[in-house]
Amino acid sequence: MAKIIDGKAISAEIRAEIKAEVEQRIARGECRPGLAVIIVGEDPASQVYVRNKKKGCEEVGFYSEVYELPAETKQEELNALIDKLNADNKIHGILCQLPLPKHLDENEVILRIDSKKDVDAFHPYNVGKIMIGDYDFLPCTPAGVMALLERSGIEVAGKECVVVGRSNIVGKPQAMLLLHANGTVTVCHSRTKNLAEVCRRADILVAAIGKADFFGADMVKEGAVVIDVGMNRRADGKLTGDVNFAEVEPKASYITPVPGGVGPMTITMLLKNTLTASKK
Ligand code: NDP
Repeated sequence: MAKIIDGKAISAEIRAEIKAEVEQRIARGECRPGLAVIIVGEDPASQVYVRNKKKGCEEVGFYSEVYELPAETKQEELNALIDKLNADNKIHGILCQLPLPKHLDENEVILRIDSKKDVDAFHPYNVGKIMIGDYDFLPCTPAGVMALLERSGIEVAGKECVVVGRSNIVGKPQAMLLLHANGTVTVCHSRTKNLAEVCRRADILVAAIGKADFFGADMVKEGAVVIDVGMNRRADGKLTGDVNFAEVEPKASYITPVPGGVGPMTITMLLKNTLTASKK
């Protein structure tokens, strides 16, 4: 029987710490951290994320602004908004919800956001800083995973870590953070041969591929720590991870559930990055 890593509880604990720090800063006459969130178009999933980010800001006492732009917004209009927010002293973090409508250039947006306000850590400058291990902003989901491990008392140093998935927002930065924590890291992807065999080597397995219930008991070593980043919708609308929880849980030593594992940590790490930005 695995111990369940309670992402909701750990997230609430970190948010309470952020809130206390904001209150102390305000009492000392320092600025209130401010986050601007931009959403273009009406993607329902993105709208939920944006609402949750606004709620998160309120919970910890941040100032926040939400810009809901129509789907037909032109690149120049979006650029002008980013320029305005880059220059705004009340705003310390800027986030543009991805994906954008097809006619807009995501790379242009990522490059345009001032790297000092890039609380998603997507700007190549911040990506480079993560690579060399000298970072101000942590990529939110991988940082959430590291916080879950740390606060559950799970040592990474010297452990075999297998990350499945190599996206720029999850897999690659996750591998870097585990490496910085002195794990021995293997990164797998859709072209990996003998995936199950590689996964069975893992003391810490991070599943981030976006395929419901893909990781079964045959892919997990007895006593492994299993972190499920996946968020997939079943036909009945229910959220489910990449790991087959019922099969894997009896074999693992620790496991994150979906929902209630990694998911709640991502926005919390975004709030942490915004607090960091406000101190700079
Ligand atoms: P991407 O689609 O960008 O990347 C998926 C990765 O998985 C790719 O590297 C791909 O390999 C790899 N992959 C796909 N199929 C297989 C397979 N059969 N075997 C091995 N590797 C495979 O996804 P993201 O990284 O953005 O997201 C991954 C999951 O995490 C999704 O479910 C997403 O919803 C979730 N997520 C959750 C967050 C949270 O807050 N909890 C935040 C962000 C994402 P290749 O590169 O070869 O194509």
